[in-house]
Formats: sequence, structure tokens, C-alpha cells
Amino acid sequence: MASSGTLHDAFIDELRDVYNAEQQITKALPKMIKAASSPHLQQAFSSHLEQTRGQIARLEEVFESIEEKVRGKKCDGMAGIIDEGKSAMQEDFDDETMDAALIASAQRVEHYEMAAYGTLVAWAEAMGHSDAAELLQATLDEEKETDEKLTALAQGGINRSAADAAHPDGQEEEDEPAPAARKTASRSKTKSKARR
Ligand code: FE
Ligand code: FE
Repeated sequence: MASSGTLHDAFIDELRDVYNAEQQITKALPKMIKAASSPHLQQAFSSHLEQTRGQIARLEEVFESIEEKVRGKKCDGMAGIIDEGKSAMQEDFDDETMDAALIASAQRVEHYEMAAYGTLVAWAEAMGHSDAAELLQATLDEEKETDEKLTALAQGGINRSAADAAHPDGQEEEDEPAPAARKTASRSKTKSKARR
């Protein structure tokens, strides 16, 4: 087979891939909303579900802007990330840990999308598809904002609550603390002797 595929073909391929990825996400998010305990996290997932529906419509506009048929092609990468998320949801985690794990899964999704849209914007710009580039950039911005929101939720309390549930007395797990303590003690004794 002669190789005649161009960057335009690769661009269409990636568009179909991400179009399918977004559809997979609209199916996964309702399950994540149900699995979440924190109302803030549920709210973040719900609003991103709405946003994702808008991103699908935006992708349809992108296809139209370059006069291509709207079509998806199974995105194996997203399928894998979502599968891993599903396994995490099947774990018997306490509520706080489940929320932390849901954020971890969701951030993998957002980063995958950021990579995909980053490439799509760059390729659209390189080929002079400026309408497509603008639409794709709008979605890229939303994915970045979502990722930041998830970081803020994790670091703004969810990780702390999960850690507190793991270590209720606020104490770190102690792995043979005695020898280390003895070593320090003997070292300081040596030092004080030396000083004298
Ligand atoms: Fe998206
Ligand atoms: Fe997203």
C-alpha cells in the first residue's frame, strides 16, 4: 500500500478518537457521581458531565467546519482508563478513600484529554483550520480547569479526610521506630561528649 495519508487524515482520525472518548466519559461520569460521597465532588462530576455534552456538540461543529462527516472510532486508551476507574470503584474503600480514588481516576481522564486536545489544537493551527482550532482550544481550557478543580478538591480536604481515616490518631504508621530513635540518641550523646 502506498503511503498517502496526510496530517489532515491523522487529524480526522484523532478527532474521531476523541469524539468516541467523550462519549465513553458521558457513560462513566454518572457512575462516578453515584460512587462519590463528597457533595462537592458530586457537584464537580455533574457539572463536568454537562460540560462534556457541550464538548461533544463542539466536536460536531469541528467536523462540520472542515466538511467532514461526524463519526467516532473506538478510543482504546480511554476505554482502558475507564476500566481502571471501574476496578477502583469495585474496591471496598471507605467513603473518603473512594472519593480520593475517584479523583485519581478522573484526573487520568482529564490528562488524557488534555494531551489529545493539545495535539488537535496544534495540528488545526498548523493546517490553518482556525475555526476548528478555536473550538478545540475552548474544550482544552475546560479540561484544564476541571483538572485544577479536582486538584483543589483533593488537596482542599478529601485527601486529608482519607488520610485521617487511615491514621485516626493523626500518627504515622511506625515501622520499627526504636532503632532509629536509639541511633539518634546515641549520636547526640557522642556529640555532647565531644563538646565537653
Ligand atoms: Fe472532555
Ligand atoms: Fe474532561
